[in-house]
Parts: sequence; structure tokens; C-alpha cells
Amino acid sequence: MSTAFPRSWEHAVVTGGAGFVGSHLCAALLDSGSGVTCVDDFSTGRPENISTLLDRPGFALVPANVSEPFTVDRPPDLVLHFASPASPADYLRLPLHTMEAGSLGTRNALALARSAGARFLLASTSEVYGDPQQHPQSERYWGNVNPVGPRSVYDEAKRFSEALTTAEADTHGADTAIVRLFNTYGPRMRGHDGRAVPTFVRQALAGEPLTVTGDGQQTRSLCYVDDTVRGILATAAHGMRGPVNIGNPTEITMLELARLVVELTGSASEVRFIERPTDDPAVRCPDITLARDKLEWEPRVSAEEGLGRTIAWFRAHLGS
Ligand code: NAD
Repeated sequence: MSTAFPRSWEHAVVTGGAGFVGSHLCAALLDSGSGVTCVDDFSTGRPENISTLLDRPGFALVPANVSEPFTVDRPPDLVLHFASPASPADYLRLPLHTMEAGSLGTRNALALARSAGARFLLASTSEVYGDPQQHPQSERYWGNVNPVGPRSVYDEAKRFSEALTTAEADTHGADTAIVRLFNTYGPRMRGHDGRAVPTFVRQALAGEPLTVTGDGQQTRSLCYVDDTVRGILATAAHGMRGPVNIGNPTEITMLELARLVVELTGSASEVRFIERPTDDPAVRCPDITLARDKLEWEPRVSAEEGLGRTIAWFRAHLGS
């Protein structure tokens, strides 16, 4: 996988490497010649996500909870902190675990990077913008987050992890980066993780109604995982501190997404409207000017193409 700023890493540690995004990231790093250690407690990740990596030279797995002190076999020159429940279904089920992954987990991952003099990259999220009052969201926007709402365990953990990463850089001169990922989709998402794409695809393939929340007019901006991983690696290689938005600025309503999934799967499913969750953002769209200018990065995969690949993967892995 090429980036605008090719840079090879001797040994990258990916916390959360057995998850959806993390497993694609591990594979891309191995493809580029880096050694990779995946640190994961499998709280939301799956062993099968990394089963094809286990035999690859340079890949190691450390089963560990990053919120407790952990060690890796050799010093890294890059630490990518991705360990955290990410779907609403997961973080509502694991609220304290999520807050600890953002706080203690980030502290431990930063400490590992500091002890090795490694570059550190934090996987933050568009959720730091909450239910945004500025549209599209640029990195200069501070967000609109309810600190005691049901989503706060995730949103505030990520906001804290950004503050901690910034303090580490300011206090110790650490080489850090923050990427704010917007909704990413692709193969290896879990059909029941509650996020829109896997939910709609699973329902369409099963011939069940597609459950659209509210009136379906709320928007998301969906980025195919290969584009997201390319943006993450470009940020790591560039050396910028960020935060930088990595996402696809093509906005789509949830109703449009549901209809597109029905069309692409050839399903006879209908749409059923259900109650919208509390604090669900009305709009979400990244301003990616910074990534375009500094990283020469922008998404390349269209919704039709990315959804097509995702649907093909779900067809081959039905039941997962
Ligand atoms: P995921 O749930 O598939 O992956 C998270 C991984 O972290 C899992 O393998 C899980 O087992 C592991 N993990 C969780 N807590 C851990 C802990 N305490 N110790 C060790 N491992 C732990 O989620 P994902 O969608 O791949 O998200 C990965 C990262 O990217 C998260 O930090 C998330 O906040 C961020 N992100 C993802 C998206 C997206 O659309 N997928 C958007 C914004 C940000």
C-alpha cells in the first residue's frame, strides 16, 4: 500500500490489532515490510481477524489488556493505539472498560512509546465533535458533547486520550500524532456490532427489514477501510502532530444508505423505521482540507465499490 510519504517502520505495535480497523492496519504494515506486534484482549476483536497474519514473518501477538501494564518483546519505533470498543453496542455494554482503554490504556501505550523513543499515533474519532453545531467539522471545531449522556463513555474517553497525548508531547517532547477517524466500514465488521453498514448488509442478505432509526434523514460520511488505513499510515509517516480528520466527505443519509444496500445486494427487504438512540448525531461530515493539503490524502473508494466489497465479504462469512 503506497502513501504520499513512504516511510518504513522497523517494528510497529498496534494495540487493538485484532479489531476491525486494527487488523487491516496490521496487514498493511506487514505488507510494507514492518514487523508488527498486535496487543489485544479480544474484548471486541476476533481471533479470526488476524488468523492469516499469525504465520507471517515479523508478526507477533500479545494477548493483554492495555489498561494494565504490558510489555512487548522488542522496542518499537511506532506505537498505534487503537485498543478501544468502538461501536455503540460495545461501549454501552463495556462502559468502564471503554473509559479505561481511553485513559489508562492511552497512558500505558504512551509510556511504551516514550521508553522506546517511538512515534505514537492515537486513533481518535469524529465522536469528539459530538452532535456537531458546525458542519462540516474541521479540526478547529471543539465539539458539542453531553458529558453524562449514554455516549459519553466513548466520546469523553477519546477527548481525554487526545488531551493526554497532547500533554505527553508538551511535557516530554514526545513525537505524537492524533487522527480523528470518521465512520469506517469494510470486511471484518461484525454483523451484530450495531453500526449501520454491517446491520443493513446483514439484514438485506437475510431478507429481513432494514431498521433505519428516526426518519433516516441523519447523515454519516462513510470511508472504506483501505482508504482509512492509507490515511493513518500517511499521518504516521508525515510526522505531523494533528489532530487530523481522516474520513470521506461524501455525505449520505441513513435512508439513502439503506436503499443503496438493498439495491447492491439485490434484496427484497423493506425499510422499517425504529426509534432513534439518545444523543445520536444529526449530521457528520469531515472537512479534510488539512489531510488533502499536508498528507496529499483523500479517499479513493466510492460507496458502491466499498459496499460491494463489504457485501461480498459478508456473503462469504454469513453467521459471523
Ligand atoms: P473494534 O472493536 O473492531 O476493535 C477494537 C479492538 O481493540 C478489538 O480487537 C478489541 O478486542 C481491542 N480492545 C478493546 N479494549 C482493549 C483493551 N483494554 N486492551 C486490549 N485490547 C482492547 O473497533 P474498530 O472499529 O476497529 O475501532 C478501532 C479503533 O479505531 C478504536 O480506537 C476506535 O475508537 C477507532 N475508530 C474507529 C472508527 C470506525 O468507524 N471503525 C471510527 C472512529 C474511530
